[in-house]
Amino acid sequence: MSNEIVLTSKYWDCECAENYIHPRSVSSCAICKSRRSEQPQSRVNEVVAHGLPLMPARRPTPLALDGGDSAASEQLSTPEVLSTLQGESTPAHRK
Ligand SMILES: [Zn+2]
Repeated sequence: MSNEIVLTSKYWDCECAENYIHPRSVSSCAICKSRRSEQPQSRVNEVVAHGLPLMPARRPTPLALDGGDSAASEQLSTPEVLSTLQGESTPAHRK
C-alpha cells in the first residue's frame, strides 16, 4: 500500500460533487461547465474507485488485452477495457 498520490492524464476532475471524473476525450463538463484545460488531472485511486477503466500510463501497448504477460506488472487497472480509450491515447509525454 502506498499513500502516494498519482495523477492520470487519462482523466480530469470537474467541479461537480459527484461524477466529476471525465475522460480526456471529453473537453468540458456538460453540467458544471468546467473545462478540461482549466481543471486538474484525476487521481488514479479515484478513477479506480469509480470503476473507470485505467490503462497503464507507461505502457501504451494494446496487446496487454489478451497477452497476459505484459499485464503481469500492473496493479490497479482493468486490462479488459484497455481498448476503450486506447485510440485517444497519446503516450508521448504530456505535462
Ligand atoms: Zn462537472
